[in-house]
This record gives sequence, structure tokens and C-alpha cells, in this order.
Amino acid sequence: HIYCSSWKWLGRVRVAVRLRPRNAEELVADADFADCVELQPELKRLKLRKNNWDSDTYEFDEVLTEFASQKRVYEVVAKPVVESVLDGYNGTVMAYGQTGTGKTYTLGRLGDEDTSARGIMVRSMEDILANISPETDSISVSYLQLENFEKCPNSEVWFMQLYMETIQDLLNPANDNISIVEDQKTGDVSLPGATILEIRDQQSFVELLRLGEAHRIAANTKLNTESSRSHALLMVHVKRSVPGRDDEYPLETQNRSSLVGNLRPPMLRKGKLIVVDLAGSERIHKSGSEGHMLEEAKSINLSLSALGKCINALAENSSHVPVRDSKLTRLLKDSFGGTSRTSLVVTIGPSPRHRAETASTILFGQRQK
Ligand code: ADP
Ligand code: MG
Repeated sequence: HIYCSSWKWLGRVRVAVRLRPRNAEELVADADFADCVELQPELKRLKLRKNNWDSDTYEFDEVLTEFASQKRVYEVVAKPVVESVLDGYNGTVMAYGQTGTGKTYTLGRLGDEDTSARGIMVRSMEDILANISPETDSISVSYLQLENFEKCPNSEVWFMQLYMETIQDLLNPANDNISIVEDQKTGDVSLPGATILEIRDQQSFVELLRLGEAHRIAANTKLNTESSRSHALLMVHVKRSVPGRDDEYPLETQNRSSLVGNLRPPMLRKGKLIVVDLAGSERIHKSGSEGHMLEEAKSINLSLSALGKCINALAENSSHVPVRDSKLTRLLKDSFGGTSRTSLVVTIGPSPRHRAETASTILFGQRQK
């Protein structure tokens, strides 16, 4: 049994914050200025500077400094979720933050040139592959992009915005209008028409990620949009056949628990891991200048605000999670059940110039606790 005992789940969601190092430009341009945040990883605290002498303090489940390795980030943010997926539960790992703060670095890096740089997607698959038996078990993967178009249907009714969300298959980009189907009985979510590829080794998985990323760039170039405004979702279905727990066998066989591993009739474990590289959080506050109503600013990206509400409900252990409001949350519906695990990493940059954006990212992470 592989539960990570050091990871306590308060509610059904955990929130980590990760600071990226200053980039070359910030090192020069902001050389005279302190970072906008100060991290206290042992205390799991982050201080956000208000001015030279005052700061606000926030607590997270985990605080990852600019020195945190990709390996450590994987272990803290994703490994416990991957372990529960191997045990037959659904789990989600999401990265939220302003464009340029390291969401894709954290989740999607392939680490071709340097294996220590590999991100959460590649490391998750490595762990999954290490725990399955090729003869009896299977792994299959879909890779999708969810785009949130903002359209003004009629120039006279200028205040009326129409939000159109479309799901595109990153493994077959011509397929750009995938619908979500929910099983009435089980509540399971499926995506008829989306490409599902069976994965047998790490190599083919990395090639699949590379292909998906290339398609993502091509699709966004064609539409003249940036990938920062769409969500990328990797879905990994894991089916394992493993010796069951005592209580899974009929009563009369329960006292056979002294039988070791392989002699127990196998039980099927079906788990789903979803890794979500969310749209840049600046989409939420694009018009969120001072004085704007938060809700109004948030409506700019329907799915991000809908997601925030769902995660809040999970954090409060509420029995009602409002998944209906966006396609993103409907996609995640069967990952928000009672046994599922959700891990959110909010990514921030150190530059004092981005203080306002960093502040709102931190607040998003805070409300989810
Ligand atoms: P996002 O996906 O949030 O827009 P990226 O992951 O593309 O951001 O990161 C922006 C830039 O910052 C990239 O050049 C990336 O290599 C770099 N970067 C992000 N996080 C880190 C980190 N923890 N350490 C070093 N470089 C990072
Ligand atoms: Mg990115």
C-alpha cells in the first residue's frame, strides 16, 4: 500500500505556492529592488510586501522557493495524487498563475536535454509505468485544449459578452469540437471522439506530449491567439489488476488474508489522473483595475472563476460542488468526488513590478484553502 502519510488532506484539496527565480531581465532591471515576496518554507508561509516596512502573511500547505528542484516539486505536489490514482481513485493536479511564472515549466517540461528538469507530467508517467504490469494492466492518454472565446455577438449590445468554450483534441487538431458526455448512472465523464492512445513506455509518452504541444502552438498561431488563454488538459486513465484488500472479498474468504499477494483473486483498479496547465490568471483580472467589481473582472474567464468556486467547495468539504458553470469544471466533475484528490500549485514571479498580479494569484490560492 502506497499512501504518503506525510501528506494530510485537509478537505479534498491541497495548495502549494512556487516562486520562480528572477529571469535575466529582472536581475538587471530590478536590481535595486527587493522581491515582492519573502518565503518562509519551514513555516509554510509567504510574506507579500506591502511597502518597505510592512507585509501581509499567507499560509499554504507547501511553500516552494526558487531553489526547489523539479523532483521536490513533483514529490510535494503530484506524487500523492499519482499514488491514489494507482489505487483506483481520480486525481487532479493543476497549475494556476500569471503567464510567465512557470506553470508549463512545473507541469510540462520534457527535460530532453537534462532529466533533472523534467516536469510533473513526465514524472507522473514514470511513476505509473513503474507500478503496472504490462500483461494485465493498461495506461491510455488523451491530450486536450480548452479555449475560452470571448465574443461580442452584436456591436449595439456591446455590454453583452458571449462566452464560447470549445474543446480541441491536441492529438488530432482537426477534431476541435469535442463534447462532454456524462454517464447518467455512474456520473463518469467521457469525451466521445477524443483520441485515446495506449502508452507502453516513457518514450512514446514523451513523443505524445511533444506532438500535442506542437499542435497547440500551431492551432494558436492559426487563430492568432496565445496558448496562455487556453487550458491544456492531459488525461491519463490507469487500469490495474491487483490483489484486493481483505474487505473486498466475500466474507467466507476473508480469513484467508494470511494468503500472500498473488494468491488473492485480482481486483480491478481504475483511476484517472488529470493534469491541467491553466490559462494565464491575468485573464481573470484583465479589466480588473482598482475599483472594478471582482466578480465582473472574473467573468472574463468563465472557466477559471467556475474552477475557483468548485475548489472552494472541495476545500470546505461541501457536498455540493458547482460543476455546471463551465466546460472545464464539467470535464473535472468525476474528479471532484469524495475519494478524489486535487492538488493546486500556484506559481508566482518575484518581480516587484508584478506585485499586483502576484497578490491576486496568492489570494486565489488562499480562498481555495
Ligand atoms: P507559464 O507557463 O506560467 O506562462 P513558463 O513555464 O513558460 O510560464 O515559464 C516562463 C519562463 O520562466 C520560462 O523561460 C521558464 O523556463 C522560466 N521558469 C519558470 N519557472 C522556473 C523555475 N522554477 N526555475 C527556472 N526557470 C523557470
Ligand atoms: Mg505556459
